[in-house]
Amino acid sequence: MTLKVSKLRPLVAQSEIRNMTLECARVGGVNLAQGVCDLPVPKVVMDGVTGAMADGYNIYTRFDGLPRLRQAIAAKQKKYARMDVDPEGQVVVSAGATGAFYAACLALLDEGDEVVVFEPYYGYHIVTMAALGIKPVYVTLEPPTWEFCAEDLEKAVTGKTRALILNTPSNPAGKVFSREELAVIADFAEAHDLFVFTDEIYEHFVFDGREHVAPATLPGMARRTITISGLSKVFAVTGWRLGYAVCDPEWALPIGHFNDLVYVCAPSPLQIGAARGLEELGEDYYRGVSDDHQHKRDLFCDTLRSIGLAPHVPEGAYYTLADVTSLPGVTAKERALHLLEKTGVACVPGSAFYSGPVGETLARFCFAKEMDVLEDAMHRLRRLGQ
Ligand code: PLP
Repeated sequence: MTLKVSKLRPLVAQSEIRNMTLECARVGGVNLAQGVCDLPVPKVVMDGVTGAMADGYNIYTRFDGLPRLRQAIAAKQKKYARMDVDPEGQVVVSAGATGAFYAACLALLDEGDEVVVFEPYYGYHIVTMAALGIKPVYVTLEPPTWEFCAEDLEKAVTGKTRALILNTPSNPAGKVFSREELAVIADFAEAHDLFVFTDEIYEHFVFDGREHVAPATLPGMARRTITISGLSKVFAVTGWRLGYAVCDPEWALPIGHFNDLVYVCAPSPLQIGAARGLEELGEDYYRGVSDDHQHKRDLFCDTLRSIGLAPHVPEGAYYTLADVTSLPGVTAKERALHLLEKTGVACVPGSAFYSGPVGETLARFCFAKEMDVLEDAMHRLRRLGQ
């Protein structure tokens, strides 16, 4: 028999995050590799789901989501991102931000297209594009402030460039793009007539009084921007698979149709739970979760510093990238595995976020854990210094 799998199969290998999660389970360690927040799901969200099941929300919804959830998303965009969004034609509810990003790539990009991506990057963006034959062209964000150089953006452009990907606050660097930086990006996108896909799943987690600026609100950006976000992180429901794309109706329709093709719809009762959460939870909830992450960031970064793994202190999201060159090993993977064996704490090798060798010097830790879990992790890590 000569049955073959897709030629793209090698590009879509198991992610380092999954690999480290499996290794962590093998040694019974503390998993700071996966970007999972283990805080409790808000009660109103849970009650919304169970109530919806009893009320018969158990069948397919419209391909772009239940009207109530689209309405709640539009209201949220208005209140927190200052975006005017028509819930009827501009919101597509999908299977997570991941699903929304995939549907948007399917609808708006073609094989052979090139897309400008900042690195360190979120690996799913890269692999999703790889699976579709789309080529990422990288522009480096330079630590410690993770700045980019406008000339590098220009150098990344060819006749095939169709889009730029933004992630703010970013995973893994925790960079929050400033309004000034976004203005440079907006000018660049306009000059080269590019779509901007902006993944804002960590939009509520911004630290030290910073502001999350939605790229779609910059002058000239509304029509070309595909805003992607979801409920996974903000309601701690990563397993529910609920996210969305918000954009101009001309793009929302094909994105909705590809969403229909791949997912049919996002889970119905969960959509009601999400709608209730968005309707009933206010600024105090979002601020509370963000402040909690900020507090844990400070504790965790102090611990990393104390054991000689210098952290890049994030401005938002819930990860820190740390310098792991003091650990034995040549590659980031060897260093991450050493750390796991020695302390029982799993992180992600920095190579998962870089196309080049810089990633071999770094590792990513997720600090969005219940306090007792984080304390256990910090206690274990301190053993390294002993
Ligand atoms: N986008 C970014 C930047 C992420 O870090 C993650 C998860 O880690 C996702 C999207 C996944 O979101 P979802 O669970 O909504 O698919």
